[in-house]
Amino acid sequence: MTNDLAPQLIKNVLRDLGDGVTLFDADQRVVFWNARAAILLRLPAATILNQRAADVIEQIAARASAPNTTREQLRAGLAARDPARWIEMEIAPDSDDAARIVAARCFGVRDERGGEIGAGMLWRDVTRERTADAMKSQLLSTVSHELRTPLASIKGFATTLLRQDVKWDEATQRDFLRIIEEETDRLTEIIDNLLDMSQIEAGALRVAKEPTAVRQLIRAVVDEMRMRTEAHYFVVDLPAELPRVLIDPRRIRQVLTNLIGNAIKYSAKGQITIACEVENDRVVVSVSDQGEGIPPQYLDKVFERFFQVDGASTRRVGGSGLGLAIARGIIEAHDGKIWVERATGQGSTFRFTLPLARVESNGQAVGNE
Ligand code: ADP
Repeated sequence: MTNDLAPQLIKNVLRDLGDGVTLFDADQRVVFWNARAAILLRLPAATILNQRAADVIEQIAARASAPNTTREQLRAGLAARDPARWIEMEIAPDSDDAARIVAARCFGVRDERGGEIGAGMLWRDVTRERTADAMKSQLLSTVSHELRTPLASIKGFATTLLRQDVKWDEATQRDFLRIIEEETDRLTEIIDNLLDMSQIEAGALRVAKEPTAVRQLIRAVVDEMRMRTEAHYFVVDLPAELPRVLIDPRRIRQVLTNLIGNAIKYSAKGQITIACEVENDRVVVSVSDQGEGIPPQYLDKVFERFFQVDGASTRRVGGSGLGLAIARGIIEAHDGKIWVERATGQGSTFRFTLPLARVESNGQAVGNE
């Protein structure tokens, strides 16, 4: 390689670098703006080249979620040119994109004798790291909040029972012990949910599929859930002929329990309908309620882990925002789909699909239930 090639090579490396790079000359005008900077900051080179640093900062600030802070930080960063100082900003999404978190650092560019001949800025996409950080703190706060409530209750009732100075009659003792038992179940449920979620995320959720009569399964879950509410009535609408499905019955029970549990939690009263239809090679199961419904912009988001439409009301009814994420993981492990629709009146309808168990491994067709 000759020395003549070096400048071109360096330019190409800068052009194709995974991080965004901006270079300013001594007059603080942009002389270089690579493709990555254009993508990260959503500003094409054509609109930025030759512009003054102050104007460029203004355009970036205009796209940031906190324009004033971003403007001030970038100005100060460019003045200080301290490469150890990172500035973070959230760049607003384009219509079909998500917001992006960009970290920037500014540096001085010097000639051989150490005189400053320009400045540069490096832009790095840190969205993944920040999302992971946010997820971790969300997980910690949810888990500690969720665990604390039942733990406090168990501790309180156990301490009360152990008091030497008070003699509780047998009925009261049994009441307290029942609460301790229920709260212990709640703790187990939370821990099971976390374990399920981590298995789903690792792609390691095991499902033991077997041909199953969906009618019995639905009836069993509904009978159990009926006991949990007096304000609701259940309508089970199943076709006369219902072929068997190829599912892990324990896991699908878990999905149904969660959907019906949500229907109870998020509707004060009224009808809860569990219906089933056969559609080509699959069965579509639906759970509808007459509750508050889900705002249209959140219809997909409710299946994300920890997402809750209304933190306040959810805190009131209790919940960790994991149920639907687990339900989706389970249904996808059955090669099915799960989604939610807004009912035309009020309330919501969750639907999921299950594969039919047409042929067993021995080649025998599996008949109706
Ligand atoms: P959790 O109920 O523990 O908060 P889920 O993952 O089961 O978590 O549900 C996520 C969110 O979706 C709930 O917090 C609630 O805001 C919304 N949601 C779920 N089911 C319903 C429903 N049937 N009606 C209205 N909102 C619902």
